[in-house]
Amino acid sequence: GAFDARQPFCWYSAQRDEKMHRAYRLASDAERGLQNGDFHLDYQPRFTLDGRRPVSAEALIRWNHPTLGPISPGEFIPVFERTALIDEVTNWVLDTALDQVRAWRAQGQDIPVSINLSSSYLSNASAWHDIRSKLEHRALPFSMIELEITEGEWLRPGSAAIGHIAAMAQAGITVAIDDFGSGYSNFSYLSDLPIHTVKLDKSLIDGIASSSRARAKVSAIHHLAHELGYLTVAEGVEHQAQVDVLAAMGIDEVQGYLLARPMAPAAVMQVFEQAAIT
Ligand code: C2E
Ligand code: CA
Ligand code: CA
Ligand code: CA
Repeated sequence: GAFDARQPFCWYSAQRDEKMHRAYRLASDAERGLQNGDFHLDYQPRFTLDGRRPVSAEALIRWNHPTLGPISPGEFIPVFERTALIDEVTNWVLDTALDQVRAWRAQGQDIPVSINLSSSYLSNASAWHDIRSKLEHRALPFSMIELEITEGEWLRPGSAAIGHIAAMAQAGITVAIDDFGSGYSNFSYLSDLPIHTVKLDKSLIDGIASSSRARAKVSAIHHLAHELGYLTVAEGVEHQAQVDVLAAMGIDEVQGYLLARPMAPAAVMQVFEQAAIT
């Protein structure tokens, strides 16, 4: 009856309420979390497909909340992106990752690091200046950092972000388009961007061992990206069968649980040291 009909609505509304409360809680706890050391970075090594040499590592933020426990960046980054918190957190990620690059260097390994940048960060007038001074302050070559950005409206020609990307590319910082092929992807502007790398999203890679249509899609994107002069990287590789397909296509680099999970800095060091021996 009428009672039953109202029930799902009430339940749904309560869910939504709870989600909003949690988002509010995460936003208000972030600042203290940064001060208390509740955030840290893990790093996921990236490998050449040809020879499986580790070439770099992607910094992935982790939040171990004192009462809520571990929270996924897939949950809190979008919350932070709706506020000014994202700039503060991005600065923390950049500083922490570049300090780590210096520490690895001091132990004898040059490990370039990839940083995920939210679109709003690169739209700041000071973005390029801030990134450059962080590198110079640590006496690090610009080649030790790669910036992963996601395509979108904010990358339209003439935007502040495009200006920053061009300046960075000029200085030798490589820029990667992240999550390519997830949702709305646009090749027409991809050809005009001063980028270096195209990362094919996991959702594209998932089906390539079993579906010829998925394979056709990845192959088309890879070949077009190559023709435009970009390096291609497959993310989210979990099975050997996927590696075989990607190798046959000629994809440049791979990242995924099959090769290495996101890990602590000391473990990354071991991956690179081991590769140097063999
Ligand atoms: P992303 O940039 O696409 O990063 C790849 C995500 O896939 C990471 O999830 C990684 O741990 C996971 N992954 C890697 N290989 C595999 C695999 O073989 N199988 C599966 N199932 N997953 C794999 P994570 O660390 O949870 O990060 C989620 C997203 O949060 C990232 O997606 C990125 O968009 C965002 N993120 C993470 N760290 C940062 C950061 O420091 N700044 C910003 N702005 N965003 C970040
Ligand atoms: Ca990424
Ligand atoms: Ca991303
Ligand atoms: Ca992705």
